[in-house]
Amino acid sequence: MATHDVSTHSFIGENKRESSVLESNVRASQALAEMLRTTLGPKGLDKMLVSPEGEIVVTNDGASILNRIDITHPVANLVVEVAQQQDTKVGDGTTSAVILASELVNQAGKLLEHGVHPTKLIEGYHIASTHISERLSELARPIDTTDKEQLQHVAHTSITGKWDDQASAFLAERAVDAVRAIEHNGCVDFERITRKTFPGGSFYDSTVVDGLVIDMQESSTDVVSPSEEFPRQFTDATIALVDRQMTVDKPTGVGAVDLESHDDYEALLAYETNVYNEYVERLSAVESDVLFCQQAIDDPLRYMLARNGILAVERTRRDELEKLARATGAHPVQQIDDLTVAEVGRGVDVERRTLNETKVTIVSGFEEFDQVSLIARGGTAHVAEETKRVLDDCFYVLKLAIEDGVVLPGGGATEAELARELRSLATEYDGREQLAISAFADALEIIPKTLAETAGMNPIDALIELRTHHHEGDSTAGLDLESGTVVDMFEQSVLEPVYVKQRSISGATEAANLIVRIDDRLSVTGSEEEHDHEHSHDHSHRPNGLVESTEGYPWSLGH
Ligand code: ADP
Ligand code: MG
Repeated sequence: MATHDVSTHSFIGENKRESSVLESNVRASQALAEMLRTTLGPKGLDKMLVSPEGEIVVTNDGASILNRIDITHPVANLVVEVAQQQDTKVGDGTTSAVILASELVNQAGKLLEHGVHPTKLIEGYHIASTHISERLSELARPIDTTDKEQLQHVAHTSITGKWDDQASAFLAERAVDAVRAIEHNGCVDFERITRKTFPGGSFYDSTVVDGLVIDMQESSTDVVSPSEEFPRQFTDATIALVDRQMTVDKPTGVGAVDLESHDDYEALLAYETNVYNEYVERLSAVESDVLFCQQAIDDPLRYMLARNGILAVERTRRDELEKLARATGAHPVQQIDDLTVAEVGRGVDVERRTLNETKVTIVSGFEEFDQVSLIARGGTAHVAEETKRVLDDCFYVLKLAIEDGVVLPGGGATEAELARELRSLATEYDGREQLAISAFADALEIIPKTLAETAGMNPIDALIELRTHHHEGDSTAGLDLESGTVVDMFEQSVLEPVYVKQRSISGATEAANLIVRIDDRLSVTGSEEEHDHEHSHDHSHRPNGLVESTEGYPWSLGH
């Protein structure tokens, strides 16, 4: 594990004395890649990030690292942007994208220094990346998406190195269980997965539960149960969803009710009881067994409902309420008066359960809309969070692998094969773009080279052996980092979705092209007004000037 003091990372900073802008740009992107190199692959090490406040994060995830460090060099930021894009759009391949982008810039730097014009270089890079995007799907091979083991290998490849092997394998298996449970006709809809993390308990207590798991711990909800007999389970239940708080309305603008006499008090009590009775009557009229309310429910009302056999769950998250609506066909109502038989959902199973000391309500048995919840446990909030990240990566790659039905060999095999093809493609061009295409091939080999390094292999020897295999037609030969040999990656089950590779290579190429084109750097001063404007929005920007990517994911998951 390497320790990085986050604050010192402004070394990737601006160096005004730099004679050549290109040189500075090459160096900036290389410094960034240098930082991530040792985290690549199953033998990658972790980084310990220490903030000025002494907060510590230990991670192996490229995006996690880049999101947290302080980077001032604008070109380094372009590379960081590639990583962020990769992370939010694909969920995997972030480190590879950064390392490749930096190597493409590095190789370009060498050619530019020798007088190759940037436009020729970009032309060559363009030819290379076009060739790659055409070839990737051809190099891919079908997998049996009903084979649990194969899917586990795909998930495992994407998260190896994050934890120890046993933990990665355990989590990969859970992710596959979850994804398989909601797969429909070869499609994976993330809206059907809810993943929750509960700190505490053992990581190995993480589990997949059929149905929607609604957390009752986070809200103040405790089932108010007048008797121990209150059912823990409802089968073929009817559920009602309410959007608004279920309290006694107070006149707006009045802070406290003026009670002048005992009669006033009685009157208020009667009024409240009346309101509560209306709620109970309305819910009973539509035969509700369970009520989910997005906001608060008054305690006396919950008690009254429980006495009438109705389980009341308050402060249900909006997204969960929406999922319940979709899955049960119920419609959330604003006013209790709007609740009619047309608004309730029927025929579901509801169970109150305690999952490792956490009280939850599980709703399952949906007719059409399968729902599955993955409960991730972890000793500390940090472990639970990191588990969530790793699971997201798994879900992404599994979705891609299942929907595509094909995968590429990992372990540097695909990069080595593409490099071989590009070298032969280069000979078909007689201009200077030939050099750029070969440079692209060299850059691709940074992936197997780095993987070899992390495993303590001699990177040059590994590369030579890899090239020999590919030259002999072994197009799926990659690095077995355990034995330090070159073997078939399909046999080794090191499998990656096509889209992950596609995006990491195209993202890296785009960033490199952008950087290569820069021949001068000018400082611009905005008008006074603009400056103020920018300043006032500082909080929404990351320290390096990039807009903070949202915490969420392009697909909707529960918390
Ligand atoms: P990224 O952020 O780019 O996904 P990772 O740390 O996940 O970085 O490493 C991914 C690389 O590790 C890929 O090139 C993948 O093929 C390789 N890899 C994963 N598992 C293995 C394995 N068991 N043997 C060899 N290479 C592997
Ligand atoms: Mg990965």
